[in-house]
Parts: sequence; C-alpha cells; structure tokens
Amino acid sequence: MRRYVFLLFVAVIFVQCSRFEKSEKEKIRKLNQKTESIYRQSNDSFYPLKTPAHTPRTSYPWEVHIHLPKITKEFFRCKGSRTHPALSVLEGELPLLDCEGSSSHGLPIIHGKEGVYPLLIELLNYIQSKTGRRVIVTCGHRCPIHNSYADSSKENKTSKHQIGAEVDFYVQGMEERPLEIVGLAMQFFQETPPYSQDPEKFSFKLYEKGDVRTRIKPWLNKELFIKVFSADEGRD
Ligand SMILES: [Zn+2]
Repeated sequence: MRRYVFLLFVAVIFVQCSRFEKSEKEKIRKLNQKTESIYRQSNDSFYPLKTPAHTPRTSYPWEVHIHLPKITKEFFRCKGSRTHPALSVLEGELPLLDCEGSSSHGLPIIHGKEGVYPLLIELLNYIQSKTGRRVIVTCGHRCPIHNSYADSSKENKTSKHQIGAEVDFYVQGMEERPLEIVGLAMQFFQETPPYSQDPEKFSFKLYEKGDVRTRIKPWLNKELFIKVFSADEGRD
C-alpha cells in the first residue's frame, strides 16, 4: 500500500512540473512578442489578377508533321528511263523502248500551266497530314511512251496517268490498311472547301459495273474514282 501511495505522489509532482513549465514559456512568449497592424484592406491588390488562360503544350518532334515532305507536282514526274531494257512484245514487232525520262519531257499542261490536277496534290497532302505518315507516289504522270512501256494492253491506252489525272500511291506503314485511306479520301471532300459546301454533290457511291478486276469494288464521286489494289493484285 505504501508503495502505491509513493508512486501516485511522484506522478502528481511530474504533472505539476510540466504545467508550470508551459505557463512559464507562455509568459516569456507574450513578453517577447511584437504585433503589427495590417493596413491592407481585403480588396486591395498591387496589380490586377488575370484569370489564367490554358496554354496548350508544344508538340514533341515526333508529333509534328514537318518531317513529312510536302507533296508537290515534282512527285508526279514520269518515271520512265532509257536505262530500262527494251521489251519484246509480239514476234515481228519492234521491241518496246521506254521514254528518255522526266529530264526530256515535262508534265502535262493543265489550264496553261505545267503540272497535274491540283486535287490529287491536295488530297495526298491531306492524307499525309491526317495519318502523320509518308505518302509514296509510285506512279504519277506517265508520258505516252512510258505508258505503253509500263503496260501495253489495250485498256491502258486511255490511262489518265498520261494527262496527270491519276496517281498510284501507298501510305508508309499502312500498306495493309487501304480502307482507312479510302475513308480519309472521302473525309477530305466533307472537310475541304469548295467540296464541303455541297456534300450531296461530292458524296461517294460504289462503282457497280463489272469491268473492274479488283476484288474491292471502287468508289466514285463527281471528281474522284478510288480503286484499291489488294496485296496480290499487282500493286505498282
Ligand atoms: Zn516519260
């Protein structure tokens, strides 16, 4: 019993000591503290605070398309060359020679200027910017000599490559997804003036005539005919 009384006594002394210490510290704090009046009003400001505007982050190099070369008429130049070997066709006929290349002849003259149909250039640049991938023109303009050399069939004699109104191309890395490119070509007409101003006029429909050899049926509107060559259908 004595021991308990002793323990209780010691505990009381400790509690009293700590209270005393705290009140002493508080006294010293109050003696040393300085106060200063606040003169600024709650609506005072040194300069007007603007509402912060959202700043979009700048693009990383791989997100911008400046690394893609802009498609120009130069990409459409005839790919014929005298270095290509002569082709023997039918017996008794002269072998087919290729043209002397784009250094010996230019592009067709359209509306008084050398070039190809502007829609093709515009469309390829659109596809390039939308996909962020490079468009490779495999066949743009073909002069009549190179056209016969490349394909001497009767159907090819009227090829629009000869007048700069046809282009064969693929999109790097999307060779097996041609339907996505077809979708973009259609989107081009919906988004780009003056075509977008008359969507009815430039809407696409399927080409139903059976004179096309490709498995996928082509599409056409008033300005464009789109034909997709599958991987096993003789892509250029
Ligand atoms: Zn040529």
